[in-house]
Amino acid sequence: MSKKPEKESFVTEITPRSQDFSRWYLDVVRRAELADYSPVKGCMVIRPYGYAIWELIQKALDTRIKATGHVNAYFPLFIPESLLNKEAEHVEGFAPQVAYVTHGGGEELEEKLVVRPTSEAIIGTMYAKWVQSWRDLPILINQWANVVRWEKVTRPFLRTTEFLWQEGHTAHETEAEAEDETLKILHLYKDVLETEMAVPVVEGRKSDSEKFAGALRTYSIEALMGDGRALQAGTSHNLGQNFAKAFDITFQARDKSVQHVWGTSWGMTTRLVGAAIMVHGDDSGLVLPPKIAPYHVVIVPIGRENWRETVLPKAQEIQRDLAAAGVRVTLDERDERPGWKFSEWELRGVPLRVEIGPKDIEKSAVLVARRDTREKQSLPMEGLSARILQLLDEIQNGLFERARLFREEHTHRADTYDAFKQVLEGRPGFVISPWCGFAECEAQIKADTQATIRHMPMQGVTPTGMCVRCDNPAKFEAWFAKAY
Ligand SMILES: [Zn+2]
Repeated sequence: MSKKPEKESFVTEITPRSQDFSRWYLDVVRRAELADYSPVKGCMVIRPYGYAIWELIQKALDTRIKATGHVNAYFPLFIPESLLNKEAEHVEGFAPQVAYVTHGGGEELEEKLVVRPTSEAIIGTMYAKWVQSWRDLPILINQWANVVRWEKVTRPFLRTTEFLWQEGHTAHETEAEAEDETLKILHLYKDVLETEMAVPVVEGRKSDSEKFAGALRTYSIEALMGDGRALQAGTSHNLGQNFAKAFDITFQARDKSVQHVWGTSWGMTTRLVGAAIMVHGDDSGLVLPPKIAPYHVVIVPIGRENWRETVLPKAQEIQRDLAAAGVRVTLDERDERPGWKFSEWELRGVPLRVEIGPKDIEKSAVLVARRDTREKQSLPMEGLSARILQLLDEIQNGLFERARLFREEHTHRADTYDAFKQVLEGRPGFVISPWCGFAECEAQIKADTQATIRHMPMQGVTPTGMCVRCDNPAKFEAWFAKAY
């Protein structure tokens, strides 16, 4: 029954982050049982522990989406090819990644179906039917769905051919309302990342070459991973009237004229799970912020032969008390060595471990170990739940602060191209530089250094000098990084 030796090597076999970060990432994903590869290349299986993390993120996001007046609906997976083709820039942007269904019910289809890479086309078609008058506006709909974008190189959670996400699609009377909505969602996304996931982000606007295909303006939140690469954690698009014109979404305005609606769309995906791993994880595995941790606390009973009689009842009592106080708690009563259990729960990133043995029971205390700092302290059983809740808050805040400091230490300014290139070596981070605004210059920087413009931050200043690379005057202060 026992497969101890195999399991032990299983726990210790994690490549150190400093040695090979991407190997470390894959080791953590597999060994913490977050996801697995599937028989279909490029697709992943999200395992229960990984899915539980996603569900917590999803719930936090869904609650905020609804609290801001949006409602959920569901649109079909298949989109007739002709619909996707209606918005030229949009179809061009997605063409290389689109998967088609050519056969169904044993017959070749008259019109190929697209497996949605995103749902603007099908949703726009429906909105054209639903909107007649300004009284029908705004429409504030979100959907939770899967989408397919064919990928040649894949990485679990970060880049997979099929992934899960939410996509919001709204329609408004005026341009100003659409812009307000776009930014409202961007702030909402930032709040989820910072408050729930303890991941600090920067809000900003994408350059034209990095914006969503068919959008007027794209805004994003960008986070810095532990290897100094940036990750786009969410995007919010002001679609202007592009899709409304392509799909003929018109309404009778208050002045009786017929006008096109102003649209937005916005999304966050399962790549957020990847962000949590890469921002907080260490060489022992995952480190989960309490708010997205499937278990806040694992109780490990310590004891000799008869621990089931001597220790277990007290451990169960503590489990009940903690659960009653709203703590997500599990009790590990497997017949394994405590040391083995410690490593396994460390690997899985559980924020607090409660150890209880015969001596602790005599003292009416338990030993509590923090995953983030590895500090251990003896706490009295009396008032334990309140103290645990307090510790969870401290961990949540501590992880955010640690990530924020890391980002600050890895954010540099560069005004010359030499300095720019120098910063981008090793474990780089963000580089803030003046940029001329020309796409060709941006492309050359990418070709030279692999760094892309993540965005131009909302609080950015208008620079006065020259572009970091060329001889044109700088128009923007841009944040560059190598990115996932
Ligand atoms: Zn330039």
